Amino acid sequence: MLMSVTLLLNATYEPLCVVSSRRAVVLILAAKAVAVQDTGEAMHSATTVVAIPAVVRLTRYVRVPFQAHAPLSRKGVFARDGGRCAYCAGTATSIDHVIPRSRGGAHTWDNVVAACRRCNHIKADRTLAELGWRLHHPPRTPDGASWRVLGHREPDPRWSSWLGLGEPVSA
Ligand SMILES: [Zn+2]
Repeated sequence: MLMSVTLLLNATYEPLCVVSSRRAVVLILAAKAVAVQDTGEAMHSATTVVAIPAVVRLTRYVRVPFQAHAPLSRKGVFARDGGRCAYCAGTATSIDHVIPRSRGGAHTWDNVVAACRRCNHIKADRTLAELGWRLHHPPRTPDGASWRVLGHREPDPRWSSWLGLGEPVSA
């Protein structure tokens, strides 16, 4: 069995979550969801062949509790920053407070970045102004459906148009 995953949309086309493709196929077979986009691959069972969906949509609307902000986590910061150090773009191994906590910096999405060991060590309790450093990208609080859906997962390019991540990349 292929361990692929499928993007699940609400009946309103709002992204809900990511499910295993096996689960998505089960939903389709139970008429609880319809395929919106196929992967071009198929799943073979004893009796039937089912196209593996990249995106499915629920046939009935489900209510989801609104979550204003994604909770701050080390994994989440790494995912947002692409695993790259915010200062030198090297491989990140830790998280760093841009304004150090000892200087009143908050433990919030807009003050926490992924950092490599070297930059973290050099930076220590200093501010960017003191070091003459600057950030490649200002750290932002992730919001919207894409974060709820993806968490720390790499988005499938076929999902991008549903997640507001820009134009889908054709395979
Ligand atoms: Zn670095």
